[in-house]
Amino acid sequence: NKQVVLNERPARGPINDNTFKTQIGQVKEPEDGEVVVKVDYVSIDPTMRGWLNDTRSYLPPVQIGAVMRATSLGKVILSKDPNFKQGDLVFDTFGWQEYWTGPGKAIQKRVTPEGGREIDHMGLYGLTGMTAYVGLFEIGKIKNGDHVVISGAAGAVGQVATQIAIAHPKCTVTAIAGSKEKLDYLKKLGAHNVLNYKDSDFTKQFKNVGLIDVYFDNVGGEILDQALSQLNPYARIIACGAISAYNAEKPAPLYNYFNLVSMKSTMRGFIVLDHANMFKEGSEYLANLVKEGKMKADYHVTYGLDTCVSSLKDLFEGKNTGKMVVSLKGD
Ligand code: NDP
Repeated sequence: NKQVVLNERPARGPINDNTFKTQIGQVKEPEDGEVVVKVDYVSIDPTMRGWLNDTRSYLPPVQIGAVMRATSLGKVILSKDPNFKQGDLVFDTFGWQEYWTGPGKAIQKRVTPEGGREIDHMGLYGLTGMTAYVGLFEIGKIKNGDHVVISGAAGAVGQVATQIAIAHPKCTVTAIAGSKEKLDYLKKLGAHNVLNYKDSDFTKQFKNVGLIDVYFDNVGGEILDQALSQLNPYARIIACGAISAYNAEKPAPLYNYFNLVSMKSTMRGFIVLDHANMFKEGSEYLANLVKEGKMKADYHVTYGLDTCVSSLKDLFEGKNTGKMVVSLKGD
């Protein structure tokens, strides 16, 4: 059982060559009520950087020597739980490893919607798709006619959020990302304005798109600060993530923070895991958009457990369009 484990905690800044190590472990024999899963896909997520720090957060830190935590999709190959049989498609936190053994009652059986792909459980119908859905509807209270601005728009959460907003009646959608290829991709999806935050005149371009009703924040930092200077009254800021801060050595200042007050706006954080009661309706909503031709999920897939660490680094360099996933099929 090939596994990637946490070797040492990185200091502030990016992960390095000593952060993880690969080892060969045993596949644990299942006891009554347990199943053995062969993992087919493992997730690569920006939030993993935070799990490596020994600080208080929404989940405890990954322990030194433990298999790296990751949501994953796989198939049951051996079952001592009457509710599972060989070949069942299952999703849960199996980690960066080839096989997982544990109680059947702790994992989710998955059925792929008609016309969908297995990999969609890792993105569109996985936590990133649900994050976009919960973020826009529950936290951002998207309304007809809103000007919705999305940062990190070509990423896993961003691409789904962008397409939900485009499909929402009369909304104007501004999508922000970090390369020309990503802007072309977002334009093709139907975003009304596309902005590259690496352009030297980004500040001016952002100002020109006007005032914001809903800001879906995936990156934090200076882009958030400028968004705060452009709030319409009663704007809603969806505090989803702040990738620009995860590897930062110093915090970025928020000069426009007071606009939250003067524009009577709300900024609300959320963790998608606390909204599991919305996942069924969310999956149905997204499956419907797929059927109507209004939603296409993209994936950036690399192959083999040995690519987990470089893929995690690549997220912070923007090398992915869509959801970053490692496939273990064929390993
Ligand atoms: P993405 O697929 O969006 O990958 C990360 C992207 O972030 C990169 O492709 C890159 O795109 C961009 N990026 C990297 N560094 C920077 C930077 N310094 N400044 C601006 N952009 C940067 O990841 P996810 O969709 O999985 O996650 C997006 C955000 O949502 C993250 O902040 C994550 O932590 C958060 N999240 C929150 C959840 C919740 O429950 N609240 C659940 C899931 C995710 P580019 O080329 O455009 O720079």
